[in-house]
Amino acid sequence: MAHVGGDMRKILNFIGGLFLSLLVMGTTLVHAETVVVLLGTGTPNPKPDRMGAAIAIVVNGTAYIIDAGTGVVRRAQQAFIETGIQALDAENLGMVFLTHLHSDHTLGLADLILTPWVMGREAPLKIIGPPGVRSLASNLLEAYSEDIRIRVEGTQPQNTTGWQVDVNVVWPGFAFGDANVRVEAIRACHGEIINSYAYKFTTPDKVILISGDTTWCPAIEEAAMGVDILLHEAYSVKGFKTLGEQWALYHSTHHTSASDLAGLVNRAQPGQLILYHQISWGNVPPEQILDEIEALTDVPVSYGRDLDIYR
Ligand SMILES: [Zn+2]
Ligand SMILES: [Zn+2]
Repeated sequence: MAHVGGDMRKILNFIGGLFLSLLVMGTTLVHAETVVVLLGTGTPNPKPDRMGAAIAIVVNGTAYIIDAGTGVVRRAQQAFIETGIQALDAENLGMVFLTHLHSDHTLGLADLILTPWVMGREAPLKIIGPPGVRSLASNLLEAYSEDIRIRVEGTQPQNTTGWQVDVNVVWPGFAFGDANVRVEAIRACHGEIINSYAYKFTTPDKVILISGDTTWCPAIEEAAMGVDILLHEAYSVKGFKTLGEQWALYHSTHHTSASDLAGLVNRAQPGQLILYHQISWGNVPPEQILDEIEALTDVPVSYGRDLDIYR
């Protein structure tokens, strides 16, 4: 290696330092980028490869969880282990937005209240959701009061605050805001479940809309106009034809057919559509929904699976 003089060494050190700074800045930027992690893409149907409905939007080291289906904490922990996204480490799960109070979206709420606390979270879980959410949360605390008492008063070293909840009942319109996100609730069209929301997240680098459970819904279509990422539920048209009259009536008024969703994205033109909470019946393969939508639109479509990550 050639001898390097004092001045040249200073210049090289300066360039090296600059490179290191850029690297650090680059790392920061990577972390600042909004990522969407599918924690659970399932429905009430207990398919072992699909946990209950739950999505994480991670911005600047904070995880915003949308819905708390079965397995939400374990999937978050799995995502942390597999990807290194620190915000999804169980003790860092501090906030959840509930789209509605159907059990397939809330069975993991007790888990989200208690497990991160047992793992070390000191702050109460912030819960944002429609009317009825306060009763759900307070009754869960009542149901687990003996567990909480034992952990706080027993020999287990346990902080005395992290089991609490900070419940915020929201209505259509502004739902939440902080340095990372602005969140709007949009009333979905989920049959008789009037208080069912889609949530629209605006972050420094993305606009993301999560449908929750809904049939085709004009308000959601309007909110989806030009978003970067649309996560939307869907069912297969072919599968729908296998249903009896009662279930056909239920699904057509509570959930969205692949063809209706294709129409929605053709008009709203999101940057990409991610299917989640996919409903399929009988012998119709799950990917049928994807095929049905892709045949009708040029908008990029993904068939979401648990632990998929989108940017
Ligand atoms: Zn559902
Ligand atoms: Zn529902």
